[in-house]
Amino acid sequence: MDDNCGARLTNGGAGARIDPSVCPLCGKENGCAMAAGRAPESCWCFAASLSADALGRIPPEAKGQSCLCRECAGGSAR
Ligand SMILES: [Zn+2]
Repeated sequence: MDDNCGARLTNGGAGARIDPSVCPLCGKENGCAMAAGRAPESCWCFAASLSADALGRIPPEAKGQSCLCRECAGGSAR
């Protein structure tokens, strides 16, 4: 299971302080299509393979709320 991206996991959590357009790991824009108001299927994360390491570092409150950015999702950022 690697479905922690905001676009993949839509639980519609309202009221959270998480900004869906910002990467929970580095705080930069994640480029998520859903956060930009586009169809979730068009998000880059659908074609990307998210590293297990990156997924494990997502704060619990951010899971299902915000996408990682490409750099963090690839596990090579930092
Ligand atoms: Zn990031």
